[in-house]
Amino acid sequence: MVPALSGPWSESVRSSALLLVVALCVSGCAMRTGSNDSPVTFKLIAINDFHGQLTPPASPTRIDSSSLSTGGVAYLATVVEQLEAKGPVHAVVAAGDLIGASPLESALFHDEPAIEAMNVIGLEYSAVGNHEFDEGVTELRRMQLGGCHPPVAQSTEQSCGRGRFAGARFSYLAANVLDATTGTNVFPASAVKTFELGSGRALKVGFIGAVLRGTPDIVVASGVRNLRFTDEADAVNAAVPALRKQGAQVIVLLIHEGGATAAAAFDDRTCPDLRGAILPIVDRLDPSIAVIVSGHTHNTYICRRNGRLLTSAGSQGRFVTDIDVTVEPDSGRVIGSAARQVAVVNEPGTEPPAGPVSSRVAQRNGAIDREFLQRRGRAAHRACDRRDRLTGYACTVGGWRVRTWRPHRRRSTRRDPRARRMAARRWRS
Ligand SMILES: [Zn+2]
Repeated sequence: MVPALSGPWSESVRSSALLLVVALCVSGCAMRTGSNDSPVTFKLIAINDFHGQLTPPASPTRIDSSSLSTGGVAYLATVVEQLEAKGPVHAVVAAGDLIGASPLESALFHDEPAIEAMNVIGLEYSAVGNHEFDEGVTELRRMQLGGCHPPVAQSTEQSCGRGRFAGARFSYLAANVLDATTGTNVFPASAVKTFELGSGRALKVGFIGAVLRGTPDIVVASGVRNLRFTDEADAVNAAVPALRKQGAQVIVLLIHEGGATAAAAFDDRTCPDLRGAILPIVDRLDPSIAVIVSGHTHNTYICRRNGRLLTSAGSQGRFVTDIDVTVEPDSGRVIGSAARQVAVVNEPGTEPPAGPVSSRVAQRNGAIDREFLQRRGRAAHRACDRRDRLTGYACTVGGWRVRTWRPHRRRSTRRDPRARRMAARRWRS
């Protein structure tokens, strides 16, 4: 806006002032970040340890005084969608272990469905977790970049069943994972997201990703061959100057390492007896890092450590952490932050509304399901039984069709042919 001129200013002064303003704007206005530094609130929508859990996990979740069924990717998508609508300046982020240790509906397809579901949900940045390395860095690069898994003899797993796998639309970040030979990062350490705020204002948020240094101790040797995992805090702090250079005003760490508290409530914010391997890392972080989205322990917590937010959203898509950070864009000063846990409840009566994201996830689920049943059904059921016996995990594949949408009708659907027909009709639509 050109300020209105009045008083003794002549027309020529007025027009040269206008030219001056235009000239200044050409060189700076478009890039200017926060012309009057009025505070801006940006929202982080955060998950971790999804583990390919497309269908609702079998075990219930304690929510206040009830045991409720939670999770399921269509329900997760709905919660993300609702949070996005609440905060237009937002980023969807994750703290790793999105894939690996997955139930069969994802594992049978080399976790391609889990990555595709994250794409549809709109995930933008994720730390790598230890489980991202379960099948080695070449396979993790394929998860990022796309392509087909080489056929595996005697395996029921399949890749690219619906055409070439396109890879993740989100960016895996890993500041502390290096190629042992070259010493270079195998994934980018960080990324910047620019939020256009209107009137030439912008907010740049930097994201750094890291994974627990002890990953080689908990992943098979072939998965971490020729990789070096370095000190988390050192690597994260070393990534800060580059983000600053790119103009990041505030920095968020996504890290696959975590903690625990003694809290019983899922949305506790008092954080009693906080402990765990994340703390010595957080205590050494560069002060410019305002929020730490953590994972790995599968715990749900919202804590403050030296004024910074430290969060984790459980696992398997049961919770989403809704984080609001208020910043003065010019100074990058964080003047407030708040977080809460949102439970992804899928009890009957909480069917996912047919929003654009959740219906696309539902379509994708349906496609996986059809493909699964038509092409791999029998072998998968056998594998499922084996897995059940071996691990004691509930098998989510046997009841796939109905459990994606109506987990509580599983048994009755199996017994009752009419319910089965209804489920099939719902599934086709
Ligand atoms: Zn983990």
